[in-house]
Amino acid sequence: MTNPETRLKTLTMKFGGTSLGTAEAIGQSAEIAKAARDHTADRIAVVASAVHGVTDALQEATTAAAGGDERYLQIIAELRDLHRGCAEALAEQESEVVVAEIDELLEGFAGFCESVSVLAEAGPRALDHAMSLGEQMSVILLAAFLRQIGVAAIAVNATDIIVTDDRFQDAAPLLEATRRKAVENLVPILERGQTPVITGFIGATPDGITTTLGRGGSDFSAGLIAACLESDELWIWTDVDGVMTADPKVVRSARTIETLGYQEVRELSYFGAKVLHPKTIQSVFDTEIPIRVKNTFNPSHAGTFIIPDLNESNGAIKAITAVPNVSLITVEGKGMMGVPGIAARTFDGVARTGASVLLISQASSEQSICFAVPRANAPAAVEALEFEFELALSRGDIDRVWAQDDITIVTVVGSGMRQTAGVAGQVFTATGRQGINVVAIAQGSSECSISLVVQDRDGDDAVRAIHELVIED
Ligand code: ADP
Ligand code: ASP
Ligand code: MG
Repeated sequence: MTNPETRLKTLTMKFGGTSLGTAEAIGQSAEIAKAARDHTADRIAVVASAVHGVTDALQEATTAAAGGDERYLQIIAELRDLHRGCAEALAEQESEVVVAEIDELLEGFAGFCESVSVLAEAGPRALDHAMSLGEQMSVILLAAFLRQIGVAAIAVNATDIIVTDDRFQDAAPLLEATRRKAVENLVPILERGQTPVITGFIGATPDGITTTLGRGGSDFSAGLIAACLESDELWIWTDVDGVMTADPKVVRSARTIETLGYQEVRELSYFGAKVLHPKTIQSVFDTEIPIRVKNTFNPSHAGTFIIPDLNESNGAIKAITAVPNVSLITVEGKGMMGVPGIAARTFDGVARTGASVLLISQASSEQSICFAVPRANAPAAVEALEFEFELALSRGDIDRVWAQDDITIVTVVGSGMRQTAGVAGQVFTATGRQGINVVAIAQGSSECSISLVVQDRDGDDAVRAIHELVIED
């Protein structure tokens, strides 16, 4: 960091949907933010997700409306009750204002759904408009809860902060424009001694059209804002005691990992650890801001501390993650060696379908190329490759292009692990003991992970079996 030592200490903290699920949880989140402002930092910027389940409900209502199903009215009524229920815990005057603001947003949404039902379609742009409402409502609530305990908080819509391209549903931030807006619109609030409560997940194109950063994207928003404000730290508040050795919902004996390096977290989140959005590290990478992941419902627990470089080379496995619902696509044939540029053409062909390749598996023979894509993308990918290799297929140089569905990628992560002899062996012994068939292996480009491909039905068992190696350590 280039700032002089006299500068004010700034913290950015993000509260996830689970930390905002009820009036009690919102109150708890507000207390946590206030305590940080009173005791840890000179100023804080708060980023909030939608109240738990709201983004899904907004998506469902919009899709129902597009299909001519009036169920959207019911969903809107439930959303109104949910937010009103949370606002009831506020003092009467504040509660009335909050309810009026949220009602206005939901009335707008009802009108929007009506138009969608007339048009009978809702594309990505319309969905972004709808799905951005959850965060717009939650920041109104959280800011009011903060004011109630004496923090001068104001709700801020990230459409005024985060500038993105127009890839609706998965927009990418334009960094320079975002930095300018953040400095222009957030710094004055902080300088007035106020606390901005900013919508996670959403942004806007340079023309001001609302976009979203992809599901779970509030962590990414918080990283972007932390970077723009040159925050000293980024704190992610969630519903578990930090980043754990495995998803605690799958492995009951999962434990908190005290420290992790950026690279390890990147691998973990990319390969399925939902606790942090995969792009969070990317957003703080250049500024090297340390991250803490902590539990809103157990705030005295230290959680996990994430730093840019972790000089550890004990080679131990630190965590195991899983990505289910993947397809493994294989291009195979004995004459493949003779087909010019086959690997490049394969991946170009897949890229043109918009599918992202999650992993490439190196087969021992040169007679096949094998890679994984999300299951929903598999049919289009196979079709694109059959088209690309039409000639080679007709000549018999390539025998077939085929997809194996119902696949889970299980990944073991630990810095320095790959240089340590025997880790892969231990992993295969552990899965073998359980009779789990490993369909393929991938040693990614990163030094700190090894992935195995198993059938979906073996996914949880594979994670549990390998997790035993962490516990034994
Ligand atoms: P939030 O609403 O706070 O963003 P999420 O549901 O997105 O919360 O992420 C937290 C969840 O991530 C946890 O409840 C947990 O089930 C899941 N999770 C998956 N893998 C891990 C892991 N390795 N460590 C911690 N949590 C994990
Ligand atoms: N509310 C958004 C979602 O449910 C973003 C987030 O929770 O991070 O995907
Ligand atoms: Mg999340």
